[in-house]
Amino acid sequence: MFGSHLSIAGGMTNALDEARELGLQTVQVFTRNQQQWTAPPLTQQATSAFRARLAELGFDQVVAHDSYLINLASADAELREKSIRAFANELDRCEQLGIKYLVTHMGAHGGNGEAAGLANIITALRQILLRAPSGTIICLETTAGQGTCLGYKFEHLAEVLAGVGDTSRLAVCMDTCHVLAAGYDITTSQGIEQVMGQFDRTIGLKHLRVMHLNDSKKPLGSRVDRHTHLGHGFVGLAVFRFICQNPQFAQLPKILETPKDLAPNGEPWDRNNLDVLLALTAGREPRIIPLESETNVKAADIPSRAKTSGKVAAKAGNSRKRGNKESA
Ligand SMILES: [Zn+2]
Ligand SMILES: [Zn+2]
Repeated sequence: MFGSHLSIAGGMTNALDEARELGLQTVQVFTRNQQQWTAPPLTQQATSAFRARLAELGFDQVVAHDSYLINLASADAELREKSIRAFANELDRCEQLGIKYLVTHMGAHGGNGEAAGLANIITALRQILLRAPSGTIICLETTAGQGTCLGYKFEHLAEVLAGVGDTSRLAVCMDTCHVLAAGYDITTSQGIEQVMGQFDRTIGLKHLRVMHLNDSKKPLGSRVDRHTHLGHGFVGLAVFRFICQNPQFAQLPKILETPKDLAPNGEPWDRNNLDVLLALTAGREPRIIPLESETNVKAADIPSRAKTSGKVAAKAGNSRKRGNKESA
């Protein structure tokens, strides 16, 4: 099933309504302002409204993404303790809202070394699982490996899964953009087979519960995390075709974390990207809508560009972003 990371501005249920309108079967949300450490508690009214709407829509595999402030790997004990409290709170919120998965980045060791960072994550997750008796499953996300961020090697995720031990509450999210940026070549069918085999041997495909479907503005092994629309980056379509046509992944929530602007064809980009995925699933050749900079249409002709004061839009790499942060 396909979904998108959508905004909760104006109310949590707005993301659900928007997903429905786009023709998606699931959604990823932040359960609070992801730029702040604390959030006002969810009201009974908000949680019941969200749960009721989930039931109406039949969305049973909704995903949340944790705050970017949280760093369970940090060498700074105070920051780590703050992160543990915030993460346990996020898990509580997911439980209250009936959200099945909470995706998290593994954090950055900040120069303390990978082994120490991984040990910190394991200790932190054990504490969190004890503190928060939640049915929500934490999914460690594969990362691009920017700076000292962990999670860019499958071995990192495997080590944390093994170290925490409780795989009923801990699983994995694979992000196609991150995997490529981390140096795994998923651009050809041969490469994909190899990388997925490696994933299976190292982590175990049975632990894969969520996927993030993003193309990458940055090349293989760049270790830089920049998402773009499907078919417009260095990932290419082969891996999306592989994922869409593989029955093993059919029931997993597969989330778009691509920019949310309107496309030059006047449709929301999420709808265009969903069309690509549906075409690939059906074995058809997808129609790739050009980026703004690739069209010859005058800026003024495109409603979504009205705010750019008629200037010809910047290069593909600079297309405006709106809504959620794209580098989730
Ligand atoms: Zn990302
Ligand atoms: Zn992601």
